[in-house]
Amino acid sequence: LAQLFRPLDLLGMVYRTVKQGAIDMGAMFDLIDTPAEVQDAPGAAPLQVSSGQVRFEDVRFAYDPDREILKGIDLDIPAGATVAVVGPSGAGKSTLARILYRFYDLTGGRVTIDGQDIAAVTQTSLRAAIGIVPQDTVLFNETIGYNIAYGREGASEDDIAAAARGAAIAPFIQALPDGFDTRVGERGLKLSGGEKQRVAIARTLVKDPPILILDEATSALDSRTEAEIQATLETIEQGRTTIVIAHRLSTIVHADRIVVLEAGRIAEQGTHAELLRAGKLYAEMWARQAAEQDAALAAE
Ligand code: ATP
Repeated sequence: LAQLFRPLDLLGMVYRTVKQGAIDMGAMFDLIDTPAEVQDAPGAAPLQVSSGQVRFEDVRFAYDPDREILKGIDLDIPAGATVAVVGPSGAGKSTLARILYRFYDLTGGRVTIDGQDIAAVTQTSLRAAIGIVPQDTVLFNETIGYNIAYGREGASEDDIAAAARGAAIAPFIQALPDGFDTRVGERGLKLSGGEKQRVAIARTLVKDPPILILDEATSALDSRTEAEIQATLETIEQGRTTIVIAHRLSTIVHADRIVVLEAGRIAEQGTHAELLRAGKLYAEMWARQAAEQDAALAAE
């Protein structure tokens, strides 16, 4: 599955999502085969985030019992750090993120946030602590203000305006005929890929979560838009524990740590410079992407 988040357009899904209080739209639900719903443990307490440290401890997971996808993942993400997850298609990158959001229960090991097992806390509190900037942002046939406010119930107009500024979409919105009251979506203004991403970023800023999951869009925006969005993302990563699911290595050079997943295992991890020096899988992927970029430039 190439996408961590799929556009949600089935009413049943929306209903379930709202019922579970998953403000991120439960967008990780796969419309084709819906995962079995996880349940709150009896007497589950709300997650108390102090610093936002995330740990995967010998995490094992299978969608189908006879095919293990994550084969013992140990990963310690310090509070406030940015960790990028890269690796070949199908390695399990998106699965790792879905597990953190607890769309599925594990077959082994555990995931903790500030020492609390995510399977032992309420799903509502877990999902309130995690913001997601998905590959594809679902917009409602509503005003752009509503679409931003969707990040958090009860967001004020000031919150929405501040989030729009933080996502660098405020000038665009102010230039619209009805400003924040302009309707968008299928029956309103159509937004470009970059503008939709900015709405997603603004939604996340309204939510102001201590933990972020960024699912990099596979379809490239034009390089200028991409660089601008990248700069905005790097500012919202500040002070939050961030996991970036990355396809283009050029966007994650700045990460505190890069984790290379291969067939459900961590093949190597380190900084960009360390992994290049190691001369293994990451260095190969980097060389391949650089060659592809050169070829693309030469073709322009
Ligand atoms: P990509 O870079 O292509 O997005 P990925 O590393 O994110 O890949 P995942 O989406 O995590 O990979 O998928 C890992 C494996 O799990 C793949 O073999 C995929 O076919 C399988 N898989 C993903 N989602 C499901 C599902 N809902 N049911 C069954 N198998 C799944």
